Amino acid sequence: MTVTVQPKASHFINGAYVEDTAGTEIPVIYAATGQQIASVHAATPEIVDMALASAKAGQKSWAAMTGTERGRVLRRAADIMRDRNHDLSVLETYDTGKPMSETLYVDATSGADALEYFGGLAGSLTGEHIPMGQDWVYTVREPLGLCVGIGAWNYPTQIACWKAAPALACGNAMVFKPSETTPLCALKVAEILFEAGLPAGVFNVVQGMGEVGGALVTDPRVDKVSLTGSAPTGKKVYAAAAAGMKHVTMELGGKSPLIIFDDADLENAVGGAILANFYSSGQICSNGTRVFVQKGIKEAFLTRLTERLETAVIGDPMDEATTFGPMVSENQRDIALGYIAKGEAEGARLVYGGKQLDRDGWYIQPTVFADVNDGMVIAREEIFGPVMAVLDFDDEDEVIARANDTEFGLAAGVFTRDLSRGHRVIAAMEAGSCFINSYNDAPVEAPFGGVKASGVGRENSKEAIKHYSQVKSVYVRMGDVEAPF
Ligand code: NDP
Repeated sequence: MTVTVQPKASHFINGAYVEDTAGTEIPVIYAATGQQIASVHAATPEIVDMALASAKAGQKSWAAMTGTERGRVLRRAADIMRDRNHDLSVLETYDTGKPMSETLYVDATSGADALEYFGGLAGSLTGEHIPMGQDWVYTVREPLGLCVGIGAWNYPTQIACWKAAPALACGNAMVFKPSETTPLCALKVAEILFEAGLPAGVFNVVQGMGEVGGALVTDPRVDKVSLTGSAPTGKKVYAAAAAGMKHVTMELGGKSPLIIFDDADLENAVGGAILANFYSSGQICSNGTRVFVQKGIKEAFLTRLTERLETAVIGDPMDEATTFGPMVSENQRDIALGYIAKGEAEGARLVYGGKQLDRDGWYIQPTVFADVNDGMVIAREEIFGPVMAVLDFDDEDEVIARANDTEFGLAAGVFTRDLSRGHRVIAAMEAGSCFINSYNDAPVEAPFGGVKASGVGRENSKEAIKHYSQVKSVYVRMGDVEAPF
């Protein structure tokens, strides 16, 4: 089947599609076939300038609207996204290769949740009144101004919405750059926001690689940068933003621990470990890829895990029966295969998978290594693929120390029937997003983000409002001013 998902043009600026073919051509490859399905052009300096200028101009009138008016636009956009969920899910699948059994439920729908949630909050963003005797101080929660969003490739619709929704609710404008690997979905988000009544220029999408991101981050018109990406990119973008004293949100990588105690419900623990490693073919930042299993339950865990992996349906992502799709790109597949080879070379025991599939597209099997030790590369570095490392442990203090022995701190999970232990272990985790007897739930109502090298700031929830607004304080004197001379 020949498919075309070619967008009307590469960029969406000032309420319209804009093309400039002078920019480097970026092919869009469908991960399930390896075939090119569309192409866009990287933004030229003129396009970057046009997007920033239109955002700068659009922001003022958007911020002048009441919060309730802004919220109504976002909620209308959420309704449109839900109405078009099927088509948006198909597009997400073409952009990323993730199966429809996922995209129908967690991409446009979670984007719509963010637009609805922050649309609802927009009218409630107020300051406070601070009495000072006969004088008083009042505070005003103001937008930051012009925000830049830069996305990773694993959740292109969700990332665009998770950044746009709180930014716009607070009265900011945004220029968003998707990953060059998945340029299609954010354009649809822009189209829908405009259709819902967002004034032209308030949300713009420009395509490009790292240098377009770099040009956006260093532009003096920009007040805030929100990046979802790897830790090395995060360090570069954070440093570039710091040079201009810009606000940042950094949603970066991880190597999160999932701790399974002997007393855990085995079926739930195995289910949690599957969600924590194989959803989206393992391409999720918060994945619990270091699975610490207490020795008493280890063999039962591996046996049941293997049985359940046998039931994974690997195949055409457009078939709703498929539960495990390809990697996003040839490059990402090769990175994962490289780590699998390292795991074998370092002496970890390959319990399941490990092979590339003999078919078109960038498929590899869900892969499990057991007998992994803390020093192995597959236990230390983020793989961003379907590779689970199972590590044994004896007791609670030991596993807490080992779980925290990482530069990262995005997420952590624990499975146990002992509630006190569950809370005690999670309290000791150096991680931002944690789970007890569950894994990878990310509702918009809950803050999401990491500590240590996994990032700065939080997305979602009321926390995100703090990262897209600033407080002005105003002292009001009722009496005379006393000056020394
Ligand atoms: P990258 O860090 O390679 O890229 C992220 C984005 O930054 C891309 O749009 C990229 O452009 C852009 N970029 C690269 N260099 C620069 C630069 N110098 N200045 C500005 N922008 C730049 O990440 P991936 O796209 O490979 O995504 C995978 C990573 O994202 C993983 O580490 C994963 O953990 C993390 N991630 C974190 C999440 C979280 O919420 N914590 C969620 C999802 C993913 P381009 O690639 O087009 O060149």
